[in-house]
Amino acid sequence: MSGNSRYNTKSDQTPGGARGGSSAYPEPVERLVEALSSLPGIGRRTAERLAFYVLKSPADEADHLAAALRDVKRSVRHCGVCYNLTQTDPCPICADTQRDRACVLVVEQPKDLIALEQTGIHRGLYHVLMGRISPLDGVTPAHLTIADLLARFDDASRNPDGVRPSEVVLGLNPTLEGDGTALYLADELKKRGVAVTRLARGLPSGGQLEYVSKAVLADAIAGRQRMD
Ligand SMILES: [Zn+2]
Repeated sequence: MSGNSRYNTKSDQTPGGARGGSSAYPEPVERLVEALSSLPGIGRRTAERLAFYVLKSPADEADHLAAALRDVKRSVRHCGVCYNLTQTDPCPICADTQRDRACVLVVEQPKDLIALEQTGIHRGLYHVLMGRISPLDGVTPAHLTIADLLARFDDASRNPDGVRPSEVVLGLNPTLEGDGTALYLADELKKRGVAVTRLARGLPSGGQLEYVSKAVLADAIAGRQRMD
């Protein structure tokens, strides 16, 4: 288990690392560094450190990592109803007949769904937008799953067991863009005669739902407020 500890992963040293220009690394190492540095939040220096960690690791550890990367793309997909991450379609939440099909909680990302689900308060369904409207970043409603959300109200058959939901709880992050997205959605949903509520204020402004404590999230769901 402590197989990792014999390697100093904190080292900033990048043996043989060529700074800029053409790489002095063997081609497979350079390819790994490039692949890693394409990940969000990983700069070239960190990518080099990770690549050297992999090089020093036992072969089965590297195989395990490679298999995990491959399998996540092969076996995990988005639910055709709510866009939750799932191995089955529809996802277990949409497929659960014990859940309240009348109420849909709308979130930005699958990780928000997980944070809210862990409170155990929301017994309805979800819809994951896969982002939020952000004009400055060029993100419009068309880049998100908003059309699919609205289709759930225009065409009941898009929902589990064909039940058209009657309430939407907007659970977007309390940021400027989250608020803007909530207003846009509230407008579109009210046109369709849907009761729209939003999570209670009290969530830290500018914060991310995924980092908010379970108790605060539970209160925010329980105290949701109508958007008129
Ligand atoms: Zn689903």
